[in-house]
Formats: sequence, C-alpha cells, structure tokens
Amino acid sequence: MALKGKVALVTGSTSGIGLGIARALAAEGADIMLNGFGDADDIEKLRAGMEKEFTIKAAYDGADLSKPDQVAALVQKTQEALGGLDILVNNAGIQFTAPVEEFPDAKWEAIISINLSAVFYGMKAAIPVMKKKKWGRIINIASAHGLVASPHKVAYVAAKHGVVGATKVAAIETANDGITVNAICPGWVLTPLVERQLQDRAKEAGTDVETEKKKMLQETQPMLTFSTPEEIGALTVFLCSDGAATMTGAPISIDGGWVAH
Ligand code: NAD
Repeated sequence: MALKGKVALVTGSTSGIGLGIARALAAEGADIMLNGFGDADDIEKLRAGMEKEFTIKAAYDGADLSKPDQVAALVQKTQEALGGLDILVNNAGIQFTAPVEEFPDAKWEAIISINLSAVFYGMKAAIPVMKKKKWGRIINIASAHGLVASPHKVAYVAAKHGVVGATKVAAIETANDGITVNAICPGWVLTPLVERQLQDRAKEAGTDVETEKKKMLQETQPMLTFSTPEEIGALTVFLCSDGAATMTGAPISIDGGWVAH
C-alpha cells in the first residue's frame, strides 16, 4: 500500500489505459478522482466498485477536457472531494485518421485540445498545489507517436510530440520542488481507441479484426503482442514510488520495441 494517503486524478479513466492506471493506483491505496465519458450508471458502478474492492475513496467528475476551464475546475474539484492532489495522470485522448490534405479542421482542433492542451492546463493547475506540499507526481500518457510518426495521424502525432516536449519543460521547472514529471509512451494497447481503428482497417481492407490485429503489430512492433492497461498501470505505480524519485523529464517507452528499430 505504498500510495496510502495520496490522492490521484486520472483523466479519461472510464475506459482503457486510464482505467488500468486508476485501478493500479487504487490497489496501492491511493484515493482516486475518475474522469471521462460513458453511461452514468456504469460509471457509478465502476466508482463504487473501486471503493469496495480497494478500500479507498473514489470520486467522479465528468469534466470535458476539450474545455480549458473544465480542466482547471477538475483539479479544484479533486482537492475539494478528496482533500488534496498528489498524483496527476493526464491520460484522456482521442484519435482520428486521414491524410493531411483531407484531415478535417474540427478533428485537428479536437485532438490538439484534448490530447495536448488539456495536459498543459492540467499541469498548470496542479503544479502550484504540488509545490506547496513539496511532493508531486505528474505522468503524461504520450505514445510511441510522441517519438516517431505514422501516416494519417497528423494531429495525434503532433499532439503527442507536444506532450513529450511539455513534459520535459515542466520537469526542468519543478526539478527541485519534490515533483517529477514523466511521459509514458505506449505502443499498441488493445483498448476501445484501438478497436475502432481495427474495425476501420478491416472494413477498408475487406478482412477481419483478427487479421488486422496481426498486421497492425507486424507493421510497427518487433514484439508481436499488445501491451495491457495493467502493464501501463504498473509502470505508473513505479513512477510514483520512491525508487523513481530522481526520474524526471523522461519519455518512457513501453512499446514492444517499436521505437528501438
Ligand atoms: P479509450 O478510448 O479506451 O479511453 C479514452 C478515455 O478518455 C475514455 O475514458 C474517454 O471517455 C476519455 N475522454 C475522451 N475524450 C474526453 C474528453 N473530451 N474529456 C474527458 N475525457 C475524455 O483510449 P485509450 O487507448 O485507453 O487511450 C488513453 C490514452 O492512451 C490516450 O491519451 C491515448 O492517446 C494513449 N495511448 C493509447 C494507445 C493504445 O494503443 N491504446 C497507445 C499509446 C497511447
């Protein structure tokens, strides 16, 4: 229970990687502010279930992270509901694929605001709180696409490269405040975000999802296996531990060797 007494805000934690991270932090005793979209009853079941399973406090706020004022309000509400903020995981993200010349302006704006600007607004609101306590952990969920590119993902790749850059700046600025700021760069993780891409690919290629899963991995990852939300959660827990006290400003790959080749 290394994180007992700590409060963690995990954005986009109603699904996929964010949920895996929230569960991993809760398993270590942290109280959790959940955020993200979804069916209200399902989210309440999730929240109450986590409280029971891990004997922690869990709250939920449905802030829309495409809106800067709602990001700042979410940081404030976390402190009001749970008594502080020690760990911020900027995880919420969306995807859209198209060639640059066909990429809809509205999709560019949405991806930049949720995947990149919300990370800035979240850190801006959280850093003063963490500085006061002289302890804080900020973990930004970037991507292998924060380090290398793929076609048809101009907004996502630009946003994730931006997240890696913003992580480095915040890390340098807080280096002597007891705060670490790191970026996790996953390769493929089988979540609803990737399942939608697999369905689109299968439709386009006239194949099926299982075939596209194999092709997707073969295109980029030497290790032909998806990472899991639990693995990303375990890495997040490590970044919050004393063992990682001097790790800061690092983009950390967990990608089956994707960016190694
Ligand atoms: P997901 O679709 O399963 O989950 C995304 C979460 O973000 C959901 O809880 C959703 O409700 C929330 N969300 C979306 N828009 C939001 C908004 N405007 N305001 C608040 N919440 C919002 O996706 P995932 O695969 O778990 O992705 C999580 C993060 O991991 C993203 O930043 C993504 O870019 C990153 N990532 C995913 C993969 C992968 O292979 N799945 C790889 C690298 C990085």
